[in-house]
Amino acid sequence: MLHILLHFIVPLFVALLFYRSKWRYATVIMVLTMIVDADHLMADPVYDPERCSIGFHPLHTLPAIGFYVLLFVLPLIFDRKNENQSIEKILNILHLAGLGLLIHMALDGIDCLL
Ligand SMILES: [Zn+2]
Repeated sequence: MLHILLHFIVPLFVALLFYRSKWRYATVIMVLTMIVDADHLMADPVYDPERCSIGFHPLHTLPAIGFYVLLFVLPLIFDRKNENQSIEKILNILHLAGLGLLIHMALDGIDCLL
C-alpha cells in the first residue's frame, strides 16, 4: 500500500521542488505515467507481491527504461523554450512523462530490493 502511495507522493514532491510554477500540471503528467503498469495485464498472475517488476514486465525492462531516459533528456537538449508554443508544450509533456516514468521505475526498483 505504501508503494502505491509513493507513486503519488514522490511525483508531487518532485513537482513542488523543481516545477514550482506549474506543480499541479507536472504532478498530473507524472502520475498519469502510472499507465505504464498496464503491461502487468500481460503477466500471469497479473499481480504477484513477490515479483520484481523491473526486468520482468515489457515496459519495465532496460530498453524501455533507456527510452524513458531519452524522453526526459532530449527535451532538455532541444530547449523547451520554443517559439512555437505547441512544440514547447509537447516537449514539456515528453520531459515530464520521461521523469514520471523514471520515478516510477526507481520506486519499483526499490521495491525489488526490499
Ligand atoms: Zn510499475
